[in-house]
Amino acid sequence: MAKFGCKCGKILSNSAVPNEIELNVYTDVEWDAIINKENFDPLNIPLPKQEVWRCPNCERLYFFKDNELVKTYALEKD
Ligand SMILES: [Zn+2]
Repeated sequence: MAKFGCKCGKILSNSAVPNEIELNVYTDVEWDAIINKENFDPLNIPLPKQEVWRCPNCERLYFFKDNELVKTYALEKD
């Protein structure tokens, strides 16, 4: 359960149900390693290596690693 203030002013929280903030993002390599593992358990899929949040207001993407913000992507404006 965490909160984060987006640059647009919206307060993001991953504790709401349903959670429209937090994305589960895996690379193909990471996903293949998970599903091809011996004794693969579809009910016990590990969390992605990076935490990705998307603001529903401005669509910025925030990438966290070890609970630290490491990257921010914003839509380009024409
Ligand atoms: Zn925003």
